Amino acid sequence: MSDLKNKPDEYWRQKLTPEQYAVCRLKGTERPFTGKYNNEHRPGGYRCICCGELLFTSDTKFDAGCGWPSFYAEAVAGNIDKTRDLSHGMIRTEITCSHCGSHLGHVFDDGPAPTGLRYCLNSVSLDFDPAVNLAGQSEGSGDDNP
Ligand SMILES: [Zn+2]
Repeated sequence: MSDLKNKPDEYWRQKLTPEQYAVCRLKGTERPFTGKYNNEHRPGGYRCICCGELLFTSDTKFDAGCGWPSFYAEAVAGNIDKTRDLSHGMIRTEITCSHCGSHLGHVFDDGPAPTGLRYCLNSVSLDFDPAVNLAGQSEGSGDDNP
């Protein structure tokens, strides 16, 4: 198990920007249509801004029109924890990084096939990594140099 979940607030306050800290550690929400990844379409992976764990990939990203980057599946099973969230008078499912406990956003059950899920993320919780190989792409095919 990671000890990142037990880091004091001060650790994160120094590591993160004030905006990242407010979202990731205080469970804030960035304003819709302001996040830098809302209209991101490059292939690659999305890592946890706090610990670098791979959370989502671009091949499951879709435009939900809600103003936040949205995905219909997580990249690696077990990298995201889901918790019932009853704040703000709503029944929602909060998603957090299972590695460091960072708040990511919420998951809803109105997403597209094949999962029917919509993982609604804060851009500031994510760190886009274009070097991540997508699962659907075979490596080296058609380019078998000896
Ligand atoms: Zn993390």
